[in-house]
Amino acid sequence: MFQNTIVRTKVLTGLLLVLVTAIGINTVSMASTLEPAKIKTAINKAYKDYKKLKEGANADYIPALAKVDPNVYGIVLVTTDGKIYSEGDLKTEVSIQSISKVFTMAKVMDESGPDAIYNAMGVDATGQVFNSIVAIEQYQGSEMNAMVNPGAITATSMVKGKSEKEIWNKILNYYSDFAGRKLSVLEDVYKSEAATNQRNQALAMLMYAYGHIKGDALQATDIYTRQCSVGVNTKDLAIMAATLANGGKNPVTGKQVVNSKHVPEVLAVMATAGLYDDAGKWLYRTGLPAKSGVGGGIIAVSPGKFGIAVISPPLDKAGNSVRAQKAIADISNALGGNPYAVKPR
Ligand code: GLU
Repeated sequence: MFQNTIVRTKVLTGLLLVLVTAIGINTVSMASTLEPAKIKTAINKAYKDYKKLKEGANADYIPALAKVDPNVYGIVLVTTDGKIYSEGDLKTEVSIQSISKVFTMAKVMDESGPDAIYNAMGVDATGQVFNSIVAIEQYQGSEMNAMVNPGAITATSMVKGKSEKEIWNKILNYYSDFAGRKLSVLEDVYKSEAATNQRNQALAMLMYAYGHIKGDALQATDIYTRQCSVGVNTKDLAIMAATLANGGKNPVTGKQVVNSKHVPEVLAVMATAGLYDDAGKWLYRTGLPAKSGVGGGIIAVSPGKFGIAVISPPLDKAGNSVRAQKAIADISNALGGNPYAVKPR
């Protein structure tokens, strides 16, 4: 009996030791991955490495975007415990453009559940450009996603509200909660895009014709155009990304913005279709759910660790900021941000 107790105590102590060591190792490796000095070094290096890069060109199919200073270049990383690290331009606002699609989709999930998105436009990559009419025709407006224009305008049309004003205010307040400050529209960008968005109107009318948009397709296009014109700086975008990295709770303000239940679905669609036709290449290199916009911003999310954003307007042929892709990939890889990279036990 006495012997048994000793054996049992020894076994228990052994188990406890193993447990404590395992927890210890985990804590150490996690902390060392996101050590402040390491983050700062990675950001500084990426900033310097790509500062002089001259590849790519501003989007010009929306006239106001062609006028944005191509030298704007900012990097911000926000950890899930709310620490902010930055380099370069934090203040200049560019239009959020397609990055807005992520947050409107999240709003629809909050209001109507993830199945609403799944059923209304789908969650698959189209293999076509973001404003493709062929992509609609292929499956009559199904089998696409809320990151391409027809799916995105459909998602905007699903935000509930009695009037255009009520819907718009809801969207703008939601984005503002993600950023942790009151955002507003860059009116020159809105006017410029509203005067030239006939193609988006056509996409919306087709989505209406196929029964995906139930209400006023042109009103949805107008709200969508407005949401794309919201002004954001690099810090806003990084906090928005960090909110997704932190289960939908803004790590700076502490506000739960999107129901944490829906964050996995939001990130899944970003991973599938966040970087236009190059979403696969991006995921292959980084493993990070991300979203780019033709305004020059990219956000990326390392779940549980950090959100990161870079603004730099010159884009490659696929429509993604050249500097932003390179800087985010380098920084994330230096910090062990790839969620698929796991050390074997
Ligand atoms: N407002 C832009 C459009 O509809 C967004 C495109 C983008 O950023 O991908 O064309």
